Amino acid sequence: ACVKVDVLVIGAGAAGLMCAMVAGQRGRSVLVVDHANKVGKKILMSGGGRCNFTNMGVTPSCYLSGNPHFAKSALARYTPWDFIAMVEKHRIAYHEKELGQLFCDESSKLIVRMLLDECAQAGVRIEASCGVTRAQRTEEGFNVLTAHGEVHAQSLVVATGGLSIPSMGATGFGYELARQFGHNVLPTRAGLVPLTLSGKHQERYQDLSGVALPVVEARVGKRSFRAGMLFTHRGISGPAILQISSYWQPGDDLRIDLLPEADAGAWLQEQRVARPAAELKNVLADLLPRRLAQRLCELWFESRPMRQYREAELAQIGAQLHDWPIVASGTEGYRTAEVTLGGVDTDGLSSSTLQSKLVPGLFFIGEVVDVTGWLGGYNFQWAWASGHAAGEVV
Ligand code: FAD
Repeated sequence: ACVKVDVLVIGAGAAGLMCAMVAGQRGRSVLVVDHANKVGKKILMSGGGRCNFTNMGVTPSCYLSGNPHFAKSALARYTPWDFIAMVEKHRIAYHEKELGQLFCDESSKLIVRMLLDECAQAGVRIEASCGVTRAQRTEEGFNVLTAHGEVHAQSLVVATGGLSIPSMGATGFGYELARQFGHNVLPTRAGLVPLTLSGKHQERYQDLSGVALPVVEARVGKRSFRAGMLFTHRGISGPAILQISSYWQPGDDLRIDLLPEADAGAWLQEQRVARPAAELKNVLADLLPRRLAQRLCELWFESRPMRQYREAELAQIGAQLHDWPIVASGTEGYRTAEVTLGGVDTDGLSSSTLQSKLVPGLFFIGEVVDVTGWLGGYNFQWAWASGHAAGEVV
């Protein structure tokens, strides 16, 4: 027998659950299906198990998209404060870690439970382990074949997320559906992802794996991020690198200011006066991890006692520390990426409702859409906001 609902949501992730909740609260009959055996898996694993559920500093400029204006409408109508109000209503304790990032004190499980409780209260039905094989337009809506049988829905919401972390249930099904219904899908690639080094570039830094710098500034073109950095076995990672990775493509010039909060040249001059007999590598080890200071001296500057450097040489060394060119070969890919850049072209969607301009009753929300946030709670805020915008009209 064919199940009839007002709204069928494919994907019980952040965006899908929010949309279902809002639609259910409006009195719509809603069914959410997910092929994974458990719903909200990415919420559970997010923020190291504590879910960085939003960011108090959300602005549209913190998102990458073919159309930088697209996210404005939904973000303006469902703000971080709206989500925080729900978190507080459910008495979930949270804290600001840094830079406006809000995390649960205890566990991201509480966020999933909150969404499931709200959905249950709104009469939403959720079925896990229920994949979708096909969806077709009919006269009154959509006919969808799921693992649990045929469903007829007036509105169809695609909330299948991006391609990141395939082991957690990510598929390209949302993109396939978009194409099937005539939508353009922009090329996808991994974002918020560690960068890899290869050949001599990898050999130079490989044994620094584990070395961390609390603050660097990573730059690609005019874009820059100031945050921590970490050497890995395969390359470089840490928040500054993850952030810049979304703006970097193979061949792009990546520069790192290793000491963004100091004037390295002036500081070295001072050290020459204060500690003329000290060797450069030991002096640098005051500001940089010792192993990195040593490696930089091996690669770039010989390490001599400070008194042997001329003023111009120290200025030059300082300048290099502020503008370190590192040649990345690629990214670690979807296996470890936090998000997927690109996706369903926003040109085909209404920015206020996320409804298809081509097929009435069809909606795309969350990460499957070509809107990708920075690291720090921005991606969940987009999932909540776009889910909410669609939930109000489905
Ligand atoms: P998802 O939450 O990925 O949900 C999509 C759902 O669709 C999944 O449940 C999936 O099983 C289901 N699905 C896929 N294909 C099908 C199909 N064919 N049939 C049925 N169901 C299907 N963002 C933040 O803002 N803060 C963080 O702290 C944070 N931490 C993260 C940590 C990790 C390790 C990762 C990978 C991501 C993190 N993100 C974080 C990003 C964030 O998780 C996503 O941007 C967000 O979950 C996207 O929401 P969504 O609902 O669009 O997709």
